[in-house]
Order: sequence, then structure tokens, then C-alpha cells
Amino acid sequence: MTERIFNFSSGPAVMPLPVLEQVQRDLVALPGVGMSVMEISHRSSTFEAIIARAEADIRTLAGVPDNYRILFLQGGASLQFSMVPMNLLTEGRTADYLMTGTWADKAAGEARKVGAVHETGSTAADGFSRIPTDAECELTPAAAYVHMTSNNTIEGTEWHRLPAVGDVPLVCDASSDIFSGPIDIAKYGLIYAGAQKNLGPSGVTLVIVRDDLLARSARTLPTMLNYAIQAENRSLYNTPPAFGIYVLGLVVQWLLELGGLPAIDALNERKAGRLYAELDRTGFWRPTAQADSRSLMNVTFRLASEDLEKAFVKESTVAGFDGLKGHRSVGGMRASIYNAFPAEGIDRLIEFMREFERVNG
Ligand SMILES: *Cc1c(COP(=O)(O)O)cnc(C)c1O
Repeated sequence: MTERIFNFSSGPAVMPLPVLEQVQRDLVALPGVGMSVMEISHRSSTFEAIIARAEADIRTLAGVPDNYRILFLQGGASLQFSMVPMNLLTEGRTADYLMTGTWADKAAGEARKVGAVHETGSTAADGFSRIPTDAECELTPAAAYVHMTSNNTIEGTEWHRLPAVGDVPLVCDASSDIFSGPIDIAKYGLIYAGAQKNLGPSGVTLVIVRDDLLARSARTLPTMLNYAIQAENRSLYNTPPAFGIYVLGLVVQWLLELGGLPAIDALNERKAGRLYAELDRTGFWRPTAQADSRSLMNVTFRLASEDLEKAFVKESTVAGFDGLKGHRSVGGMRASIYNAFPAEGIDRLIEFMREFERVNG
């Protein structure tokens, strides 16, 4: 086994090592089955048990109420940008989109192809360095739904409260912070997340949807894009992303064994807290997100010049870190420290940063 390095990638991202080890151990033959999870029918009792356990464990982990359905779909979070309005933005209504960054913008762009969209709460004037206040969000009375992006992966900001949407269903793209801490599912109409940041490998998308909203899915929708049909068929209308669901299930088991969402929240607070404290220690580092909007998952920062940033990224790679370059659209640096990122990697990064500052400061 070659040695693992510290992987700060924004996604696909670091996986829990015990999960990778179990997948490796059981890959050729699932215990008691004698076949790989990749080789069995999705209609087999073995796979039925895998998907049922993944769902049950998600219900336990996040306290998902009985009136919510759990779906395992394909197409990534990006397909949800289309499925959400196709299913929920019914004729004659408007959907509100909270404009907090690049992914929110993409979501709104797809919704505009489907129906009336009202964009609000934009913090573009501040370079998306913060989450809007409620006063900045002008919501449409009786909107079809309000769409938010709980963690802005590229800009490094995160909602630390929910917007005041009243009775309007709240739809949340939680791709980059799902299950990073306690969540009150009952506050949402629908939550979705591509798996490849906090849940598992790419190729499976988790959707948690309140069952009364399924009545909005028109029968004229393409079958595969219809939440109601996916729910009726328990994500088994066609061949599901079976391997991804299996691994996602193991990640959820790993979270439960750690002590669930309060436990992972404490770990995430500690990891991010240490890194932000280092960024705030001197004027050398320039964290980009405003203090009250900082993400616990994606820590974004800059240096005095682009040359210095280039040097940092280059030298960090040599030092055995991967993925610290910021998104090409915003530049700078980004340390993505999702649930599975080990605390030891934060220590090592801070040591590296101190040395870099000593030489270049
Ligand atoms: C990564 C990401 C996406 C895109 O996810 P895909 O699964 O690649 O479509 C969407 N929204 C957010 C917040 C993301 O972080």
C-alpha cells in the first residue's frame, strides 16, 4: 500500500480511510455473497438490503422524519438544478433563488429555462464573501419554493442559519456540507447533494424530499426526471448507481460509529477553527470570507500577490499536499476539509504555512 498524502481537493474529495479499507477488503467478494457489489443484480436481496440499510442509516443519522422520502439518483447536483424546477416550479408560480455564489448562479440559470425565477439576496457586490441577511432577501409571497446553497464551495462561505422562508418550501443544495453537523430536516422541502464531497464517490446524488411535494411532479415529465416516479420505485426504476450507494452507505455507517452529526460537527469546528486562527494570526494571510460567513468545509484565502500564491501552491505540492489551489474563477487558495479530512492534515498544513510565512513574510 503506497502512502496517502493530505488531500485538500474540493471534490471528488478525501474519503474516510476505514471506508476505503472495507471497500478494498470486500471488493472482490462481499462476505457471504461471493460476488463483488459491482456484479450483483440491483433486484437481488443482497442489494435490496444494501439500499435499505443506507436509507435506514441516513434516517437515523439525520433524524429524517417519516414524511420524507430518500432518493439515490444520478446526474450529480447539476441535474438537480434542472429536476428541482421541472418538478416543483409549477405553472404560473415563481421560484426564489438566493444568490450566494457560482453554484447558486448555475442553479438559477437552469431554473430560468423552466419557469419564472426571482433572484434575491445577492452578495455579488461583495465578491460573494458573505451570506446575505434576511433583510437583503426579498422573498416572493407564495413562491413555489426558495432555493439556497448551504455551503458555497468555491467562495468559502456557509449559511449558519436558515433564511426566513415562512411556509414556502426551502430547497437546499447541500452538496458540500451535507451531514457536516446537525440538521433539522423538517425545516426543508427538499435537500440534495452530489455524493463526491461529503458522502462517497461521484455518480450518486442524495435527494431528501417531503412527500407532499411529490404531488407537484407532472406525469408528462421524462420518467427518469420525475421525483414521484423515483420515489414510487424506491430509486430502483432503472439500474441505480449501485456501487456508489454501497459506498455512501459505508460512509454513513462511519459517521454513526463516530457518534453521529454532533460528533462530526465538533471535529469540523475544531479543524476549521484551527486553520482560521492561523489565517487570522498575522496580516500575511488574507482569508476571503467575512468572519460570520466562513465555511467549515472550504477555507479560502489569498496572499499579497499572485506570484506568492503560485509559489505557495507549488511548494505545498512538493511538501505532499494536494488540491490547495483555489477555483480558477476566484484564484487564491482553498483548503477543502470535509468530514473525512484528518485533523492531522490541518496540523501539517499549519506547520507548512508557518515555514512559508517565515521565508516569504
Ligand atoms: C460540486 C457542487 C455542485 C456540482 O456537483 P455535480 O455533482 O458535479 O453536479 C453543485 N453545487 C455545489 C454546492 C457543489 O459544491
